[in-house]
This record gives sequence, structure tokens and C-alpha cells, in this order.
Amino acid sequence: MGTTLAEKVWADHLVRKGSDGAPDLLYIDLMLMHEVTSPQAFEGLRLAGRKPRHVDQLIATEDHNTPTVDIDRPNPDKTSALQLSTLEKNCKEFGVRLHALGDADQGIVHAFAPILGLTQPGMTIVCGDSHTSTHGAFGALAFGIGTSEVEHVMATQTLSLKPFKTMAINVNGKLPADATAKDIILAIIAKIGTGGGQGHVIEYRGEAIRNLTMDERMTVCNMSIEAGARAGMIAPDETTFEYLKGRPHAPEGELWDKAVAYWKTLKTDDDAVFDTEVDIDATKLGPYVTWGTNPGQGLPITANVPVPADIADATKRSAAERAIDYMGLKPGMPIKDIAVDTVFIGSCTNGRIDDLRQAAAIMKGHHKAKNIHRVLVVPASSRVRLQAEKEGLDKVFEDFGAEWRNAGCSMCLGMNPDKMVPGERSISTSNRNFEGRQGKGSRTHLASPAVAAATAIRGTISSPADL
Ligand code: SF4
Repeated sequence: MGTTLAEKVWADHLVRKGSDGAPDLLYIDLMLMHEVTSPQAFEGLRLAGRKPRHVDQLIATEDHNTPTVDIDRPNPDKTSALQLSTLEKNCKEFGVRLHALGDADQGIVHAFAPILGLTQPGMTIVCGDSHTSTHGAFGALAFGIGTSEVEHVMATQTLSLKPFKTMAINVNGKLPADATAKDIILAIIAKIGTGGGQGHVIEYRGEAIRNLTMDERMTVCNMSIEAGARAGMIAPDETTFEYLKGRPHAPEGELWDKAVAYWKTLKTDDDAVFDTEVDIDATKLGPYVTWGTNPGQGLPITANVPVPADIADATKRSAAERAIDYMGLKPGMPIKDIAVDTVFIGSCTNGRIDDLRQAAAIMKGHHKAKNIHRVLVVPASSRVRLQAEKEGLDKVFEDFGAEWRNAGCSMCLGMNPDKMVPGERSISTSNRNFEGRQGKGSRTHLASPAVAAATAIRGTISSPADL
């Protein structure tokens, strides 16, 4: 029997096969680090008197706690300032390369590494951050790990793990013009639920996936964790190779040819069998938006907020009741009647250059609606910011009435100055709409950059077709 892409990458990194139910020992090619989940790992290493096993396979950046304005001034938040200065001290002491705030390569941990060409097909990549699944877009086996595992990887460059189950999600047919990568993944999570991928590594396949750009593939893989999966992967192809060629850390010359020859072998065999298989008809997709408080509570933008009384399953009914109450919605109201206060375009899901181009194309020549308090456009990395400015996108956003910011996680989570106030409602291109995610009492609707831009123009949840 053949093997899947994930099984091939796993096998290529096996240091020791576990026996009698013991986990395998895997070699880790690259560990990404940031200020939130690294301090205890550095401290553990320090206490044990150890040094990193392969310091050149560790790289750090600052993203969660960084402000996105006035970045050259002292951080106004003491806890954030301490977390950032601790990372800087630790990286200096242990010799870990750091792209700190102000550096041209700083950015969200899942955005800066692909841009540098550090993320490559067939690699094992870990980070103390669940959205590490993003890097699977290149055919890497990439997943989030806990703090003690971060220390283990620093000390040994290996990780003890039991093999994941495998799941294929086949997104068949062509995506309609008004649907985007974000709509694909929101539709998938709405179908399989936030626990549907539990224990699995998902491989996204099918015509609609193959037609996506690398930025769009990263959007899909990024949210694998929101379906409960450990990782998400897409087999590398010409789109992947074209994206990587010439990037600072991509192989060159003969090494490039050798790498591409290997990368071309990284695909699931025709006779491989997945533990689980799901089919999605891409031709039926359109813009999706979440109405509730988890990423699985999403619907097509043309739908109505669910009526809990119509939901037969008692658990789902009470979850819907609670979500509708928290979100301040009326059961059965059209999603398009929901007025929002704030628009956030950014995050490791949708803060890349393709996302900003998509939003700018829609906003150009328009101005934000009167009821919209603020529109934050936050590039996922400083390189994205520079590229956007080269293309004049910053001017489009500013003319629209949006705030053009520096790179960081920003309003994806309430851990830096870009927070929402209780009761404030956003349309957000990020990945989590949990209660209080964007600030205490905040209400979040997840959507694509296209829907966020159209909503910013109309003031109510809208798709570009409504303009
Ligand atoms: S943008 Fe949001 S989800 Fe992504 S790494 Fe930052 S906080 Fe996490």
C-alpha cells in the first residue's frame, strides 16, 4: 500500500521508531520562536546548563505583544515590554537569530519565515504556536507544540511524537470568482466542525486547491487547527517552486535542482489510504462569514443567523443560543443586516500581500461607511508592508479612511494595544472568534479580506457583489 504525503515526510525524519506503543523520535528541521512561548524554554535550558543543539535551526521574531504604531517609542504596556526585552536578552545569550521590532524581516512568526524562504517542502517545522500549520502550504509537516516541547527541541533538535492520523479534504472543481481561500476553509470548518480534524494531519487536495497562490494556500493551512487538526498540508508543485526560487534561504544552483527533484517526490501515492476522507464541491462555494463564537459557526453570507429552536441536537442548540446572545444578534436575522463598528484586515491568516491587494482593489475610490469607527490594515510582516508601499496600497487604504499600521498580530488577539472594547463588533480577517478574543466583550465575525473591504464600504456585512 502506498503512503500519504504526511507519512513520507514523517518517515524521512524518523530518528527512532517507537516500539510497544512508545512514541517515535522525529528530527526537526526548523523551530520558529516568539516572545510568548519561549521564555520558559530558555530558562529550562539555562537551569540545565545546556546550549541549543542546532542554533542555526532556530529563528525568532516579535509579533504578539508588539505595538503597530509608534514602534520607535518605549512600549506603553509593562508586561509586553518585559516579554519583548526577555526574548531579546535570551536570543542574545543563546545566539538565536532574532528579527526584532523595527527589523525589515520582523513580522508574524508564520509570515516572515516563508518570505525568507525558510519554509520549504518536506521539512518538519515546529513553533510554540498553534497556527504553525500555515507552513504546511509548502508541503512541510508543521505543527504547534507546548512550551516543554520547545525546550526539548532546543536541547535536542528532536521531538517525541505518536504518528498523526491522516485526512484528505478534496476541494473539487473550480472556485467561483466571488469565493476565496478564506471561504474554502470557513466552509470546511462549518462542515466538519471545530473537532472534525482532531488527531489528524489534513492534506488539502483537488482542483480548487491546486489553483490557489501560495499566499492563499497559507490561508487554508493556517486554519487547520481551527478544525482541531494537528497540521494541514498541500503537496508542493510548480506554484510552490516558483514562490521559493530566489528567496534568501532557498537553495541555489545545483542544490536548487536537487531540492526540486526531491520536492517533486513529495506527494501522496495513488494507492495510499487516508484514515478519513471529506469531499467539498468548490463550485458551490461563495463568501462565508461566521455568526457565532467559534470558527465552525459560519454560513454563506446570504444566509440568516440560525434559529436555535430549529436545531434538533440539544448541544448544538444550546451552543447556538449562547453564541447568539453573546454576539448580540437576533435569531433568523439576515447576516447581511449585521452592522459592524470595526474592520480588521491582517493576521497570519490574511495579512499577506495577496490579501492586501484584494482589499485595496475593492476599497479603491471608496470611503469607509459613516458607522465604521475604524479600519485597521496591518501587514503580517515588515516585508509585506514594504511591498504594499511600493505598490501604493498604503495610499489606497489611507484615502479610504483606514489606518495603515506596522507589522504584528495586532487585533487578532487582545495582547497588545490594538484591542476592542466590550460590545464592539468587528469583521475580521483573522482566525478566531472566541468570546473576548479581540478584547474583553468583543464580538468578532470572521471573513475574507474581500468581504471585510466590502463591509467597510457599506457598514453592514457585505460581499463585493453588493457594492
Ligand atoms: S496573528 Fe493571531 S493567530 Fe496568528 S500568530 Fe498572531 S496571535 Fe496567533
